[in-house]
Amino acid sequence: MHIALSARRCVLSSVQQLSGMPYLKYKEPPQNGMHTPGAGHGRLRYTYNTMTPFIRTVTGDIPPEQLGITQPHEHIILLPGKSSQVNAALLLDSPECAILELTDYKTAGGASIVDAQPICVERAPLLLQDISLKSGIRVVATSGFHRACFYPDGHFLFTETAEQLAERIIQEITVGMFDYSANQQTSIKAGVVKWTSEYHHIPPVMQKAAEAAAIAHHRTGVPILTHTEMGTCALEQVELIKKYGVKPSAMILCHVDRNPDKYLHKEVASTGARLVYDGVARTKYWPDSVIMDLIRAMCESGFGDHIMLAMDSASRTIWRHYGYGPGLDYLLKVFVPRLMRIGFSESGVKRLLVKNPALALSFSSDCC
Ligand SMILES: [Zn+2]
Repeated sequence: MHIALSARRCVLSSVQQLSGMPYLKYKEPPQNGMHTPGAGHGRLRYTYNTMTPFIRTVTGDIPPEQLGITQPHEHIILLPGKSSQVNAALLLDSPECAILELTDYKTAGGASIVDAQPICVERAPLLLQDISLKSGIRVVATSGFHRACFYPDGHFLFTETAEQLAERIIQEITVGMFDYSANQQTSIKAGVVKWTSEYHHIPPVMQKAAEAAAIAHHRTGVPILTHTEMGTCALEQVELIKKYGVKPSAMILCHVDRNPDKYLHKEVASTGARLVYDGVARTKYWPDSVIMDLIRAMCESGFGDHIMLAMDSASRTIWRHYGYGPGLDYLLKVFVPRLMRIGFSESGVKRLLVKNPALALSFSSDCC
């Protein structure tokens, strides 16, 4: 049973009491970027040369081999805000529901998850940490920026330079994520940086967000996770990020299965980029059979190391504990057994669920 909390202030204050996690003293990121403008590989300033790979979760850094079964694009908390104003189902405001849903996921074999909610879009770092501790599921949190439509006019996404935005992101990765509504910085660090494209185009503001993500990647080794609108612009995203000196293997492209074009996916994977098929059980886009055919085609063509699976659980209609279904454990309890019935081996499935996410989510200097 869950208790829906209607007000953000209520959610945050209750969790602060539960976790006892103090905020850091808030420090405004510098207004003047400290980086050389990142217009190309040679102009970016690197601060590391070698690094032992690790994955950054909201409860600390872990070696990649400890990650376990991972769905690399989900949503655990979506506070009241613009998302739920646009679509009432985009409201995940109950920590109790999240703990129950993640406990089911853990019972099905899940170990870790990525919460893909970035800066200023209904994200809740303190809740993520508390839910992770109570459910026993490791959570990788997200910095960077969502689609421009989620930000109000005048937001710093629109007014600041790529270098200034990068400084905010680097703070979130190395010190702690900001809670801008509370004017506070937490001590909970983000483990991926996000940017997005729109349907068949990448607006200038998102090109700037991509450059900011690239600067943050070069400075910290953070993996880059992207939103593709209906699976479009996957190749264009890779081409853009390459201009900023980032190797495509540092990129995790999400929602690409909404455009289940095998030819395109092979072309994208051949660059080294990683693809997340996160439409599992999202029948309004495609039935699972389409995604299974895609996985099989990619594996048979030698691109099995590039594929990961998730459910993009932003809508409460996916969640069993909000009164809907099929539940966050559907991928492990229904989809995976079906994959095995059509011929996938246990090791083949483990590659998709364990090995590939561990590589994709690792901070590492060898991707630059
Ligand atoms: Zn999402």
